Amino acid sequence: MNKLQKKPPNRTELAKLIKDVPEEYQQHIQSMSLKMMQHPAYGQPYQWSTRDFEMGAPLGRGKFGRVYLARERTSNFIVAMKVMFKAELEKGNVQRQVLREIEIQTRLKHPNILRLLTWFHDDSRIYLALEIASEGELYKHLRNSPQRRFEEPRAAKYTYQVADALEYCHLNNVIHRDLKPENILLTSSDDVKLADFGWSAHTISNKRKTLCGTLDYLPPEMVDGHIYDHSVDHWCLGILCYEFLVGCAPFESNDNEKTYEKIRRLEVYYPSHMSSGAKDLISKLLRKSNNGRITLVEVMKHHWVKENMAIRNAYLEEKMRREKAIE
Ligand code: ATP
Ligand code: MG
Repeated sequence: MNKLQKKPPNRTELAKLIKDVPEEYQQHIQSMSLKMMQHPAYGQPYQWSTRDFEMGAPLGRGKFGRVYLARERTSNFIVAMKVMFKAELEKGNVQRQVLREIEIQTRLKHPNILRLLTWFHDDSRIYLALEIASEGELYKHLRNSPQRRFEEPRAAKYTYQVADALEYCHLNNVIHRDLKPENILLTSSDDVKLADFGWSAHTISNKRKTLCGTLDYLPPEMVDGHIYDHSVDHWCLGILCYEFLVGCAPFESNDNEKTYEKIRRLEVYYPSHMSSGAKDLISKLLRKSNNGRITLVEVMKHHWVKENMAIRNAYLEEKMRREKAIE
């Protein structure tokens, strides 16, 4: 067993673990856990296969993956099953990218990073059993919001959670490199999950030079083909926060050359509806020099983030209280 993997609890340990859980959930957790304990995979090496899952409705489709709702037959645990055809991966020449995605996502365990629970393959397909994020892409929510933007409390909460996830990636020597609302999923409890590690890279202190990611999110050092490091993600977090609040990225243009030029000149327009706190945070992330950008811990401690996140959380608590009262 991997040194980092904890031994799963037995029945006595389980009773101790759930003693502080609210009473109304205890029975459900206990019966769910007991079902999981009866599974042959519990605490043992196990070869998962399609036989273990019942496939359900499609959740979405990407360039190479079709994603379905799926239910693990023994525990009834719901996952999002991403199915990719090996022939399509070969044709697109992305086999290495997928393997890297699998390798990285298996290692990363953080509440705001989409968990890859297990994976397996047959002759023609690769299957990734992913944690479910039932609200889907954050991009869709942004586009469906009034004026295609989020209110500041909502934007601040998501900015905090993405900063937290990125900080964890960097501590594990992983740079995401492709941050954008399309690569962030939302759960039913309004928490974001960073997904799509196809472009991410192990760093181990060497600086990299590959051009990747989306144009609108490209940091100046990548536009100019310079060596870059983990602080590309800090830049992208600034762009993401701007897009949350404005509805489009700051350097967007119909012409790629114009976008590059705007990035180089750091031509950012802050609309009047944006608060001074939000402007302060974004301008501290959108610094040309990679070592001039504030740290992710500083982002999480920023006064605009903290104040607005508290407003969002209070709103969600109140909403939950009302829904419960109606039940
Ligand atoms: P692309 O490369 O175009 O981004 P992809 O092949 O990486 O696509 P995904 O982005 O992983 O495919 O998935 C496609 C769609 O399936 C997503 O846009 C999303 O709507 C849905 N989806 C993916 N993973 C999940 C999940 N864990 N929970 C819920 N929905 C998901
Ligand atoms: Mg995707």
